[in-house]
Amino acid sequence: MAKLTEEQKRQRAAKRALRSALDAEADDRRHREQDERWKREGTRLSWADYVAGEPCRGCGEPMQDGLGDWYPLMKLSESEKREYEEADRRFRERHADCRGGRWGISGSRVTHCGFCCPPPPMGPKRLEKLARLFASWPTREERKKDLDTWDLTLRCDHVVPHIQHREHSHVSARVVDCPECGERRGVVSSERVGPAYRDDGTIRERAAADRDWLTRELAAAEAKLTRQRKSAEATQRRIAELQEELGSEA
Ligand SMILES: [Zn+2]
Ligand SMILES: [Zn+2]
Ligand SMILES: [Zn+2]
Repeated sequence: MAKLTEEQKRQRAAKRALRSALDAEADDRRHREQDERWKREGTRLSWADYVAGEPCRGCGEPMQDGLGDWYPLMKLSESEKREYEEADRRFRERHADCRGGRWGISGSRVTHCGFCCPPPPMGPKRLEKLARLFASWPTREERKKDLDTWDLTLRCDHVVPHIQHREHSHVSARVVDCPECGERRGVVSSERVGPAYRDDGTIRERAAADRDWLTRELAAAEAKLTRQRKSAEATQRRIAELQEELGSEA
């Protein structure tokens, strides 16, 4: 077979990047639909449900069985190993098309599906930790000097700005909102532009990227909060702050 020319190589790489962006987009849609369904059908357990020992509403299995972790596999007896393999086979069979990975609660052998099963609710201790973490965040003003703008080329060929901390050497978001299309779009390529803010603190690439960044921060904070009804005050304060910032960017 003749060797590929540089141009052919470039074309193939571009095709691969486009395919991967489309796949990421489809997966993003699938997970968002699942999340909507969970909201509609009340699939997520509240902390009270969880403590009361209600089974997972995704797969019907107990959230935890208290049988201790499977790992390390080396330390299992022969019959435990067979049991593990059997449980693993059943899981693969049942979740063959889920592509969501798996999770379990420490100290338990039940395996839950990353696509079918909503993650366990957060307890008061974790919420408190989260609230402390939020409270320890530097303010947006303090963060400005450490933020870079990137240009993301989306699979619709629109180029949108994206802001993130300078320490990241690549953009991990695989799907972002495209303001031009009004849709979530897969990222085909990304390029660092440079500092997001000028020395006087004004933004270089205004509006869309900033809004996008705040929206994501807000969505993440809200998701953490809604996992449990009982909310920590500091978390709510943080959400209010973010909402206010988002509002003032509009
Ligand atoms: Zn489950
Ligand atoms: Zn599944
Ligand atoms: Zn677009």
